[in-house]
Amino acid sequence: MDHLTLAKAQAIEQEYIFTLYTQIRQPIVVVRGQGALVWDAQGKEYLDLVSGGRAVTGVGHCHPRVVEAIQRQAGELIHMTNDFYTEPQMELARMLGGLSSCRRVFLCNSGAEANEAAIKLARKWAKLKHGPLKFEIITALNSFHGRTLATITATGQPKYQQGFEPLVPGFRYVPYNDLPTLKEAMRTHVCAVMLEPVLGESGVYPATQEYLHGARELCDQHGALLILDEVQTGLGRTGKMFAFQHYDLEPDIFTLAKGLGGGVPIGAMLAKESAAVFEPGDHASTFGGTPLTAAAAVATLKVIEEEGLVENARAMGAYLVDGLRSLQATHSVIAGIRGIGMMIAADLAQPIAGKLRADCLQRGLLINIVGNSMLRLIPPMVLTREQADRAISILDESLAQVVAAA
Ligand code: PLP
Repeated sequence: MDHLTLAKAQAIEQEYIFTLYTQIRQPIVVVRGQGALVWDAQGKEYLDLVSGGRAVTGVGHCHPRVVEAIQRQAGELIHMTNDFYTEPQMELARMLGGLSSCRRVFLCNSGAEANEAAIKLARKWAKLKHGPLKFEIITALNSFHGRTLATITATGQPKYQQGFEPLVPGFRYVPYNDLPTLKEAMRTHVCAVMLEPVLGESGVYPATQEYLHGARELCDQHGALLILDEVQTGLGRTGKMFAFQHYDLEPDIFTLAKGLGGGVPIGAMLAKESAAVFEPGDHASTFGGTPLTAAAAVATLKVIEEEGLVENARAMGAYLVDGLRSLQATHSVIAGIRGIGMMIAADLAQPIAGKLRADCLQRGLLINIVGNSMLRLIPPMVLTREQADRAISILDESLAQVVAAA
């Protein structure tokens, strides 16, 4: 079969697609994926250390059990909305609800939608429990919670907000991992604190134990809810099923998306029974929990649990961090390395991240960058030791090449 050429793809984008991704799209047309590998239209193989680009394909590309579940479900029933009961949705809800004390589930289609649902739920809960003035939500500077109007407002980064004002009222930002400032910010009308357990998009910064425990306690003291955005960190990526398990605490509400469907678009908002105050008509989604995506998510959860992927994420994440540390000995441009499971970042002493990403692409390795001085790896949890070795060896060659040319 003749595949689309890069030139044709770029021409179509220029003519028909909003130019939202033009600056960040890598110059390849990806046509196939399997596990940690993808292939372009010319048949060239790439090792994908970004899980499809944005930490989605945690179980790898086209995991056979996910593919089988999608194919089977597509042949039986693709869609029925929530006016009816469907089997995959019930199975998925039971599985998700059994994973923590946040047992009540709302299914949707993306991380932003899951966070939007969490924001609405927290406001409704506070209104019912504490009256109309308790509506403020505190989030962190440099956080990322999505691109809808409420979630860009929750996102503590002006660059995502500029041009779209007026924003949603009732949000305030505090520096991440700064407990005294959070304490000061906890006024009576705060209804929720919403945090990523690990700042993901801005470069893999885990919350300290002191900070997240402090946030939990402050919420309890002030009658506010703790919302954790596990859209990126959830479902094994950090080496625990949920990142909050590293802290031995539980949120009142948390959200999932990226890794939940093995690649298909699905999100979830989960709440403790005490916070689960939505009533009929309060919230909804036409596609939320539709049979096709729910069946994919059921298969994905089974793969994560039955194939030991959480443990592999922990082990391979540590192995990759060791590999990067060994590169530091020969490449002084690596100024620092952070990692928690399969969320890894390396700070660079020179602004060469863009060039490194381009060079790695040439050598068959997909990596992510933050600004021009940080590399970010968000590999699939199915990564093997051989693939990790290959990635480190390509990075070694690439660092040598790019630094020499800089
Ligand atoms: N929350 C976090 C922590 C994320 O990393 C992202 C996406 O990068 C989102 C929310 C938004 O998810 P989506 O793009 O599926 O709306």
